[in-house]
Amino acid sequence: MTEVSRGHDQDLAPSALGRRVAILGAGVSGLAAAFRLNELARDAQRLLTVDLYESAPQPGGLVCTREVGDYRLELGPDSFITNKPGAVSLCRRLGMEDQLVPTDERYRRSLVLFRGRPVAVPEDFQLLAPSALWPVWKSPLFSPWGKLRIACELFVPKTRHPESDESLASFVRRRLGQEALDRLVQPLVGGIYTSDPEKLSVRATLARFQEMEQQSGSLIKALAKAATTRAPGHAPATGARYGLFATPRLGVGQLVEVLAAQVERSAQIHRGVGVTQLRRLPQGFELETSKGTKARYDAVILAVPAHRAAELLRHEQPVAARELAQIEYASTAIVVTGHRLSDVAHPLDAFGLVIPAKERRKILAVSFTSRKFALRAPEGSVQLRTFVGGAMQPELMERSDDELLALVRDELTDLLGIRWQPEVTHIARWNRSMPQYHVGHVERAARIESSLAQEPHLALAGNALHGVGLPDTISSGEAAAEKVWKGIA
Ligand SMILES: Cc1cc2nc3c(=O)[nH]c(=O)nc-3n(C[C@H](O)[C@H](O)[C@H](O)COP(=O)(O)OP(=O)(O)OC[C@H]3O[C@@H](n4cnc5c(N)ncnc54)[C@H](O)[C@@H]3O)c2cc1C
Repeated sequence: MTEVSRGHDQDLAPSALGRRVAILGAGVSGLAAAFRLNELARDAQRLLTVDLYESAPQPGGLVCTREVGDYRLELGPDSFITNKPGAVSLCRRLGMEDQLVPTDERYRRSLVLFRGRPVAVPEDFQLLAPSALWPVWKSPLFSPWGKLRIACELFVPKTRHPESDESLASFVRRRLGQEALDRLVQPLVGGIYTSDPEKLSVRATLARFQEMEQQSGSLIKALAKAATTRAPGHAPATGARYGLFATPRLGVGQLVEVLAAQVERSAQIHRGVGVTQLRRLPQGFELETSKGTKARYDAVILAVPAHRAAELLRHEQPVAARELAQIEYASTAIVVTGHRLSDVAHPLDAFGLVIPAKERRKILAVSFTSRKFALRAPEGSVQLRTFVGGAMQPELMERSDDELLALVRDELTDLLGIRWQPEVTHIARWNRSMPQYHVGHVERAARIESSLAQEPHLALAGNALHGVGLPDTISSGEAAAEKVWKGIA
């Protein structure tokens, strides 16, 4: 890091080291931004200095894979979708595409809790709607009236206000009825966003279903057609949809390790150094760090959560900062446990179990992680990841680790018939980690971006604006790199 004192603007002139860019936050989005900047500089044969500041001791942010004995525990994300380009393209450019493994075909299905027992999610049900009615008809999940109401989706007229945003709950209630929402859609979508469906924006999270409504007049019709024609952009039927997920052989942490190592060939990662202040200078920016040092840069990328970005931008970009501060975040704990299969009565013949809020349990979902991917648990054992908290039960995050573990023990014993003698336990708490894309989010994101459009040397990356999954987060880092690269070119 170059330390400078205030008032020496000549330090900003392109030097022998070329232009200087600071990236705040070395989660996947910050690392992807650094990697992309170095690609751009290399292709243009230009000198560029890139510094990453990471307040935690290690890069990776929410991505964390930890080896404990023969277990490889996933404490954050465990996989990513491959029909969006971000993650797969990055793995290819990192030379690790051959390390990606698909999900295990034997267990490609999900379970949902119904009246206290796990039942299979009807085959061909894709998050919001089915592509075929027969599996819904056969499922014990819905009442005869609920099934009829789902079938009526074929005839529900499309909204006359396609331009307006709508909550997920309102959209599903309107198209498929309350039962479909309560018994299946809320837990399935809740498993991804840990959100309140009454507030979650369907346009910001699942816009393709709004498009289906407008184009085909019915989600069921559109999904059925996609299942037969496999139109690009439409996911295949449920079982095959699980085949769209992949992960590095040694866990998502392997991606961060390889990425950070490549980034460090040409950039510096300042571990354990947070940025506390950001000041606009006549040319460029001055940063102040938690170590009390200052440094100047031509351009800055903020790859930190929206509430952190809001604090750092409150003087220099007050309009964007106010909007960023209004993006709510939910907190989640993942209680990761390893068990001998002989201690589990349930066959665990699925990728996981989601729990509807109506079931009034204290857990959101359980991922049977080693049923999805090999090498996550020793032979004869299973890794379970139980999700607690989220936007609907924030009070549970106040429980101590012992209390969380006891809560998970009671729930898993009851739901899966586990004899509780875990081989390994680990609790990961992710406070204010999951941005909540509430109704109006798309417009808010547009306002933030338009207010930053006049500042070509400043960009945002991360999961706050355009998607929470790893592929979108990686793409956001790359887009931020391209924006500031243009600005300093
Ligand atoms: C529990 C959970 C499970 C998930 N599972 C999946 C999954 O299976 N698949 C999937 O695709 N996605 C999943 N996601 C989403 C995905 O993991 C995240 O969206 C993504 O990792 C976010 O990356 P990021 O770089 O934007 O942010 P982060 O990972 O949050 O990184 C931001 C970094 O900034 C640092 N920082 C903060 N303030 C400062 C500062 N002032 N100065 C310097 N550094 C700072 C932080 O320490 C952190 O390292 C999951 C998310 C959660 C919470």
